[in-house]
Amino acid sequence: MLPLVEKLLVLQDRDQKIKSHKAAEKALPAERAAVEAKRKAARDACDKVRESLKANELERRKLQGDAQTKRDAIGRYRAQQNLTRKNEEFQALVHEITRAEADVSAIEDRELELMEAAESLTVQVKEAEAELARALKTCDEQDKALEEKVRNLAGRLDGLVTERAAAAQGLDEDVIYIYERVFKNKGDAAIVALEHEICQGCHMKVPGVTASEVKAERSLVQCPNCSRILYRNYL
Ligand SMILES: [Zn+2]
Repeated sequence: MLPLVEKLLVLQDRDQKIKSHKAAEKALPAERAAVEAKRKAARDACDKVRESLKANELERRKLQGDAQTKRDAIGRYRAQQNLTRKNEEFQALVHEITRAEADVSAIEDRELELMEAAESLTVQVKEAEAELARALKTCDEQDKALEEKVRNLAGRLDGLVTERAAAAQGLDEDVIYIYERVFKNKGDAAIVALEHEICQGCHMKVPGVTASEVKAERSLVQCPNCSRILYRNYL
């Protein structure tokens, strides 16, 4: 292998790592936001069930009040019945009492329904709270992992930049120029292996003359199709 190729491969390795580190750093805010969104969704889900139970309790309390009002009215109607001597008024009160009793009965039916629902909701709240605790624990762990990632990325990036500078040292300016231009344009690699006369960057077969030049290992050869620098692969 050409010594120049070896040097370029080291340089490229550091450039690729720097690029991937920077991309990982750039993705961090979105990752943090995703954890926060998960945390909020878990809290909202739990709140929703808690609110259903609360609404149920409020409705039951209101119904109890309503039923009491109706029962008080029935008591008053009965007292009036005892006092009246007019048949018409007596019958009107019978009618009122029947109506109020039907109302009380309807209220009691609804109270029963609500009590049954409250039992199931109480279980659901417990489950939702357990689920919330689990979700929050997972989110905290993910946050911690992210913090560690931030530290690791920052620490390693400094090292990579130093290593990159060392790898570029002693390389011909023209070579660096070509390498950097291709790396920037292609985004992934500037120097790739030629395998069975196929460029491993663009996966196109190169002309025989190009393949021969690469095999000769006398100078840097670029892929006629994608411009990436080609090197002979001994594997
Ligand atoms: Zn190519």
